[in-house]
Amino acid sequence: MSWAERSATNLLPLSVEQRQFPVALREWVYAGDMFDMETPTETCRLCGHPDIRYHFRIVNQHNGNEMLVGSECINRFGISATDPLGNILNAEESRQRVNRDRRFLVTEAKKRKLINTLVELAGVEEQFNIQSFISYVMERDAFTPDQLTVLFWRLDQHRIEYAPTDFKVTIRRDREKTQLRRMAEWKIRKLWPALSASQRRWVQENTDYTP
Ligand SMILES: [Zn+2]
Repeated sequence: MSWAERSATNLLPLSVEQRQFPVALREWVYAGDMFDMETPTETCRLCGHPDIRYHFRIVNQHNGNEMLVGSECINRFGISATDPLGNILNAEESRQRVNRDRRFLVTEAKKRKLINTLVELAGVEEQFNIQSFISYVMERDAFTPDQLTVLFWRLDQHRIEYAPTDFKVTIRRDREKTQLRRMAEWKIRKLWPALSASQRRWVQENTDYTP
């Protein structure tokens, strides 16, 4: 059975239209209900794709039936999304909303993972002032270069696993730029994976560092 056939077999019994898949699809909308299952262990109820982590709920406007599906299916089948007031969005706006919601889930998940890493560090290092780090990252969504250097160093010391790319650096203020300008090369090397493309360019133009 093809991907589309499998999807039709799953969707038609839950729709008012029982025969024509494209017609039945138009009964369904995505109204903004989305869930992070934390691990990629769910199955898309529409196409049967396994290993889904982010689940999106689509609802049949005529009979109230619901299905949990992957965001890709919503986009590929052109299922409409609604705005927060319940108005149906056009194809392009629907796609934008689905993609925006998915990005939101991914960002939130990263943030949670980051907080868990900080909590783990606080558990093994008494001198680590976790609260100041957490409130800083909550407010600015990133760390200063100096903060992140300290953080990476301590995580390494305690052999706590982390993905450097989950962390973000901010160098918008002069004080933060100065930190980077004065930073030893080996420290910048450590921060490099956390830097954005434009930040990397800035470093190459304003310091002696060569990646
Ligand atoms: Zn699917």
